[in-house]
Amino acid sequence: MKLDILVLAAHPDDAELGCGGTIAKHVAMGKKVGIADLTRGELGTRGTVETRREEAAKSAEVLGVAVRTNLNLKDGFFQNDIESQLEVVKVVRKYKPQIVLANAIRDRHIDHGKGASLAFDACFLSGLAKIETVDEDGKKQDPWRPISVYHYIQSDFIEPHFIVDVSSHWETKMNAIRCFKSQFFDPSSKEPETYISKPGFLKMVESRGIELGHSIGGTYGEGFTVRRYPGVNNLFDLL
Ligand SMILES: [Zn+2]
Repeated sequence: MKLDILVLAAHPDDAELGCGGTIAKHVAMGKKVGIADLTRGELGTRGTVETRREEAAKSAEVLGVAVRTNLNLKDGFFQNDIESQLEVVKVVRKYKPQIVLANAIRDRHIDHGKGASLAFDACFLSGLAKIETVDEDGKKQDPWRPISVYHYIQSDFIEPHFIVDVSSHWETKMNAIRCFKSQFFDPSSKEPETYISKPGFLKMVESRGIELGHSIGGTYGEGFTVRRYPGVNNLFDLL
């Protein structure tokens, strides 16, 4: 299956928090979008690998993505090294996306910045024909380089280079986030409180969306940064 957009995310729920509205918007436009979580989030204080897997699958349904896969890298410890790069190269070559959305270039969680560098480097390496990889069936993969890699903004505020208007898809984003019941505020939960399970965390997500949306004349927005300048065909593409 070929995807238009592949979202790479260090942990299940990063994609929803950073760019769930953008995913839902492009799915609604008829684009094929998929998510590849780099780890299973096994070091998360709340929930288990199994609950997080179920939550991620439910959220994928809410967002309407065509595929959600997991690269099973080590939560907290994966590095932007040859082993991880080849795993990401394999998934990029498998789905051949034009656009890759990747983690924030720096953030509170150390895996996010690592995930950003890993995604950017692997997307470049994926285009080099002399790096040979095979798919699950042992078939040689063709080289593939996405046109663009955009980094979504997650916990820490980073000044965006561009903002996607997700006003019409904000509810879908929040519904997707709420699928991760073990992770976010739940007054009946007996699990220890974490940075993201405090009630204020989802208020921050909401207010971030409002602020970014407001700055482009919409109701809700999601911000992205780039490492390479994207081009536009004409000035009317920028609204
Ligand atoms: Zn994360």
